[in-house]
Parts: sequence; structure tokens; C-alpha cells
Amino acid sequence: MIIQKSDNLRISTFDPENFSFGNTFVDHMVICEFENGKWGEPKIVPYGPLGFSPAMMGINYGQACFEGMKAYKDKDGDVFLFRPEKNFARINKSASRLAMPEVTEEMFMDGIKTLVDMERAWIPHGEGLSLYIRPLIFATEEILKARISEKYMFAVVATPAKSYYTEPVSVKIAEYYSRSANGGVGFAKAAGNYAAAFHPTRLAMEEGYDQIVWTDDSTHQYLEESGTMNVFVRINDTIYTPPISEKILDGVTRDSFIQLAQSLQMNVQVEPISVDVVMEAQKNGTLREMWGVGTAVVTTVFKSFGFQNEKYDLPELSDEDSYALTIKNKLTSIQSNLCEDPFGWRL
Ligand code: PMP
Repeated sequence: MIIQKSDNLRISTFDPENFSFGNTFVDHMVICEFENGKWGEPKIVPYGPLGFSPAMMGINYGQACFEGMKAYKDKDGDVFLFRPEKNFARINKSASRLAMPEVTEEMFMDGIKTLVDMERAWIPHGEGLSLYIRPLIFATEEILKARISEKYMFAVVATPAKSYYTEPVSVKIAEYYSRSANGGVGFAKAAGNYAAAFHPTRLAMEEGYDQIVWTDDSTHQYLEESGTMNVFVRINDTIYTPPISEKILDGVTRDSFIQLAQSLQMNVQVEPISVDVVMEAQKNGTLREMWGVGTAVVTTVFKSFGFQNEKYDLPELSDEDSYALTIKNKLTSIQSNLCEDPFGWRL
């Protein structure tokens, strides 16, 4: 790997007590170019703009996919990645669905590990603090032809991330829009999936909701995901989450939640959840919790949900009574090395 160090480091201006997430970037980034059928040598270069033309295929035809993962610093200053092999596998699933070249494990893992190691000083330590890492692949060939690009870039940028504490949210169950379809790209972390979700999400926000619970595109009867998170429902003392399919992103947090819930002796059912079952449970008082999970905030609890112009409140549970928060606390303790890691998830 080629390393070009920045001679204008910004780390001395970084205040871990006061920074804005998402647009505070660490000093360096990884880049690697694909040309003539192969990846070149990965480089670590100073973070900054790259010169591209508006004719670049990635922004015209949307060949672009990404990942989202985190590095955590413990009280002794040791730094851990959380299940990075899952993100490696997923970026290649996304790339392959978008007819883009897969990245090698060496490029992905060594690039991220070297970058994170160089930028340790940017990783805040403390409850919920971490470094958010964004690997991405996009088509860079400059040609206005709707075909598979012959040139790509793999890049990794990173931004310090704040506490994952979020207020409970109000969600709207989708009755018209959908984020994915049979045979589509819902399982991929395709950039265009996010673009397509913005408009329906804005409409839901105008109705006073925070995010959309996506339902299947053909019947709108089955819950799929919530916003950019996987979704869980608790009825009585059983937790339900829909099975992964070609329409649902295979979330790392979802998988970790299922394993943790099982290890905590909770009853977890991975099976389709219909809106009818949720409504029935709401009516007979057995709907206890609904929540979303993802790398960014780990867990977002739902305080209410909207369906067919009605809004329904969910019970307010204490941290101890909430399965969502019990599992979240266990997961965040593993991530920040506050407890044993029986699953071998820290790397
Ligand atoms: N679904 C979608 C659509 C997402 O964008 C994300 C965030 N990557 C998730 C689910 C959660 O996945 P993960 O737990 O791997 O962050």
C-alpha cells in the first residue's frame, strides 16, 4: 500500500467534545482505481476532493454502492472493528448485483485497518462514541453510454461518530411506496436505494412521522425494514423480525441482535410479520415494542406508528423491561470492550 501523508494535519483542531457527525473527516482516505480489468495498488492519501467530470458514469447511471461500519476505542485506547468481514462480504454482494468489480479482502481489510490505525487520534472514546467508516465503490469512466463502466474507484473515508442516543420515533407503515422489489436491488447497499427513499420519506415527515416502515411492494402487507434500519416487533414476550430476502438488506446489527437475543434466552422468531398481525396485537394489547436496528444508532425505539391515517401509540417501557434496550446495551458493551466477546465479533 502506498502511503502519502498529509503535510497539513487537521487533528489538532478536532474537539471530541464538540464536532459534527458526517462532515468532519479524518486526515486521510483510502483510494484504489480499477482499470483494464484489475484493481491497482491501494493508496492512503490526504482526505480531499478528487477531480471527476459530470460525464462520470457513477453519477449518470448510478453504479455506486457503499458500506457503513464502525471502529471503537476502549478505555485503554485499544481500537476495535466490529464484524468487518460482514461488511466486506456485503460490499461485494452489492458490487456484483450492480455489475461492478468485487474488491479483494486484502484491499478492503488492510485499507481499513491501516487507515484506522493512522487515524486513532480521531476516534473519540466514551459511551456511544466511535469512528464511522464509509467504504464505497463507484464507476469513474467518463462516457455517456448506458452500459457497464470499465473504470471504478474504491475509496474509504471516515468521520468521528457521536453518541447513538436517539429519541423514540414515530413511523409510518408504507401503503404506496416501496424501497425494493422482487428481482431488484433491495438487498444491496446501492446508492440509488437511498435516493429513491428520500421522496417518500419527505412525504411521511410532512405528515409528522420520522421514518417509513417499508412493506413489500406487491401487497404492502408484510413489514420489511424501517428507514435505513432492519425492523423488530415484540408481541407478548416473543421477538419477530422478517427473514433476509432479496428485498431486505442483511444488516450486521440485525444478525447481532438475533444472536444476542437467543443468548439472553429470549424467544426470537425470524418469520414474515404482517401488518394484520401487528394491528391485531395492537388491538388486543399484546404489542409491546417495535424498533429498528443499524450500525449508525444501533437501536431506534418506536413510540408510535401510523397506518391508514390512524396513529397508534406503543407502550413506554423502562430500560429493564424493554427487550430492545436490553439487547442494545449488551451489544454496545461488546462493541466498546466493556465485557467479554463470546461471539468473537471484535477485531
Ligand atoms: N437496512 C438498510 C436499508 C440500511 O441502509 C442499513 C444500514 N446499513 C441497515 C438496514 C442496517 O444494516 P447494518 O446493521 O449492517 O448497519
